[in-house]
Amino acid sequence: MNCRTAIIISIGDELLIGQVIDTNSAVIAQQLSGAGISVLKKYTIKDEAPEISNALDEAIPEADLVIMTGGLGPTNDDVTKATLNAYFKGSLKRDETVFQHVVAFFKKRNRPMLVVNEAQADVPDVAQVLFNRLGTAPGMLFEKNNTWVVSLPGVPREMQTIMLEELMPRLLAARTGNQVIHHEHILLFGRGESYVAADIKDIEDSLPAHISLAYLPHYGLLKLRLSGKGTNIAQLQSEMGVYADMIHQRELDFVFARKESTLERTVVELLQENRLTIASAESCTGGMVASRITDIPGASAVFMGTVVSYDNNIKHRILGVKNETLEQEGAVSAACVIQMAQSVRDMMQTDIAVAISGILGPSGGTPTKPVGLVFFSVSSKYQTEVFDLNFPYDRAINKEMVVNTALNLVRKHIQAFFL
Ligand code: ATP
Ligand code: MG
Repeated sequence: MNCRTAIIISIGDELLIGQVIDTNSAVIAQQLSGAGISVLKKYTIKDEAPEISNALDEAIPEADLVIMTGGLGPTNDDVTKATLNAYFKGSLKRDETVFQHVVAFFKKRNRPMLVVNEAQADVPDVAQVLFNRLGTAPGMLFEKNNTWVVSLPGVPREMQTIMLEELMPRLLAARTGNQVIHHEHILLFGRGESYVAADIKDIEDSLPAHISLAYLPHYGLLKLRLSGKGTNIAQLQSEMGVYADMIHQRELDFVFARKESTLERTVVELLQENRLTIASAESCTGGMVASRITDIPGASAVFMGTVVSYDNNIKHRILGVKNETLEQEGAVSAACVIQMAQSVRDMMQTDIAVAISGILGPSGGTPTKPVGLVFFSVSSKYQTEVFDLNFPYDRAINKEMVVNTALNLVRKHIQAFFL
C-alpha cells in the first residue's frame, strides 16, 4: 500500500456540542502531513453505529488511509469497536498480550478490574492490534479494498503515542517506491508574515514543484517550513538547504532557529553552550518569563530565579528601585526597568538579567503612557540595554507577545555581546 491520501474521522458527541475541542484530528493531520500524506478531509460524527458506517462508506473509496479517533472506551456510550467489528465482519477474540497488559494496568493502580475492563482486550479477529502502552483500549488496523482503516482511542496522549509508535512505522514500512520527505525550518521573531513574503518573493517563486513553503505565524513568531519530496534524501536535503540558507540570509536579523524550536529553548541552549546564567525581574508578566524558561529541561543549570515585583512597594523594597524614580517617572519607565534588571542581576549573581514593566490593558493607560506600552531592560557586564514597545492586542495576547519579546531580546543580547 502506498499511502498518499488520508481522511480523518473524529468520533464523539462531546465534540459536536463543543464541550471538547477536537485536537486529535489536528495532531493526526500534522503527523500525516509531515510524512507527505495529504489529508483530504475530516469528519466529526456522533457516537452512533450508522454514523460511523456511513462515514466509512464514504471515506474508504476516496483515500488510502482512514483514521478514526474516539469511542473505544468500555462504557455504553462508546460504540466504535462493536461497529467496526460488524462493518468488517469479524468476531471479537481475546488478545492475550492486551489482556495481560490490562491486568497489569489495574494491578499497578491497585484498582479492581471489572468485566467491561477485561473486554478491552477483545479485538476483532480481522484487525491487527496497535498496542496502547498508556491505556487499556488498543488501537486497531483493518484493511478493505487496499485502504487501511485505523481506529485509535480518543484520549489525546494515548492516541498520539499509538500513532507515533505503532502506526507511523507501519505506514512507512508499507511504502512502495522510495519516496522520501524532508523538511527545513526557519524560525523568525519580530517580522510579520506578509513582510517576509514580500522580502523572499523571488526565492519562493523559484522553488521547484517538489518543494513547498508554508508560513506558520504565532504571537510574533513565524515558522517557515520548506517541505520537499524526492527519491534521494541526501540530494533533497542539500537542494533544500540552499533555499533555506537563502531565506535565512535574507532575514538574518529575525531568524532565531533553524530547527523546530521555541524562543525559550533557543535561549536556554545559548546560555548552556556559553556557560551563562540568567535571572529575571518581572512586573506585568507576573513570572511568565521564568515559567517559560523553566519549561525547558536543563534550565536549572542556567536559570537562577525571578523576582515578581508587581507592586511598586516591592520594586522599591526588594529590588531597590528608587522612590524618586517611581514617583517622577513611574514604574513603567526606562529608569525603572534598568534598576530592576541591574538589581536582580546583582542579587542573583548572574551573567544576564532581564526586566519587564508595562501596561497590558485593558485599562491603566494615560495620555503619555498608553495601554500596551512596555519597557524592557537586558543587563550584563557589557551593557544594560533598554527598549520600549507598544503592544496593541488584548491582555492575554499582549502578555504572550511581551514574554516572547523579552526572550528574543535576551537572545539578541547574548549573540551581540557573548559570542
Ligand atoms: P476511553 O478509554 O477513555 O473511554 P475512548 O477511546 O473511548 O477512550 P473517548 O471516550 O471518546 O475515547 O474520549 C476519551 C477522552 O478523550 C475524553 O476526555 C474526550 O473528551 C477526549 N477526546 C476524545 N476525542 C477527542 C478529540 N478528537 N480531540 C481531543 N480530545 C478528545
Ligand atoms: Mg467518546
